[in-house]
Amino acid sequence: MNFRPRKQFGQHWLKNQKVLDQIINSAQLSKLDRVLEIGPGLGVLTERIFPYVDTLLSVEIDRDLCKKLVNKYGKIDNFLLLEGDFLELNLPEILQNFPKFNNYNKVVANIPYNITGPIIEKLLGTISKPAEKPLDSIVLLVQKEVGDRLVAVPNNKVYGALTVKVQYLADCEQVCDVPAKDFYPRPKVDSVIVKITPRKLENPAHNPKFLDSLIKLGFASRRKMLKNNLKSIITPEKLTEILNKLNINDQARAENLSLEDWIQLSNNLELT
Ligand code: SAH
Repeated sequence: MNFRPRKQFGQHWLKNQKVLDQIINSAQLSKLDRVLEIGPGLGVLTERIFPYVDTLLSVEIDRDLCKKLVNKYGKIDNFLLLEGDFLELNLPEILQNFPKFNNYNKVVANIPYNITGPIIEKLLGTISKPAEKPLDSIVLLVQKEVGDRLVAVPNNKVYGALTVKVQYLADCEQVCDVPAKDFYPRPKVDSVIVKITPRKLENPAHNPKFLDSLIKLGFASRRKMLKNNLKSIITPEKLTEILNKLNINDQARAENLSLEDWIQLSNNLELT
């Protein structure tokens, strides 16, 4: 590995083959799949993907790594490498010139942890503006703490705004833990493979935009009761009435509400 990892790009190379196997297995790749990989690095995951799929598009921000990747894999005809910042690139526009790689349906990636939230949001969209064409699945390596938040259940201290916002748009599961020692250089935190499967809810919120801001407001101060966090939009008395109607304790904090509770609360508040 004659390449010095760059901290600013969150570069930590995965060095455990078994973990690579787990990532590949959980993505359930087939020759029909068009895959997007964010941050191929030196290509350890990349070269495990293209033999199994229709096409692979990888986006790498580091110019020097891109040169290496082109030398190594440039001749593979179902592989396209784009150099740039995944968060900034307008992929639908760029891919008009590369139709074979357009309409990717799966994401498989060991991503830079400092931009995990924005990456997930770009892939899933938001409650008020979900992705137009939902992906079939997203398999990511993320830091353990984030992985725990994605799969959290109510009444748990890691259950938060991220949990509710992502679970509104997708099912989340943890595939397996990955200890820090499986990377070079060793990161400060442990990791976990997560599988995020976008889906539509049977009963979505009547006003998704309102729900989006309600969640933000509700979790603004975790220790406060919902009644206090929502004071700017409803009086505690009125809110108590609605909470009673919904069978939610009027002393509840944001972390006590299930996804279904949030949706119901949003639908009912909107009517006041
Ligand atoms: N997938 C490789 C590397 C993971 S490290 C492996 O498993 O070994 C994260 C990778 O993401 C690095 O290659 C880094 O250069 C790249 N990266 C960081 N920020 C990026 C961004 N905004 N867009 C695209 N790639 C990025």
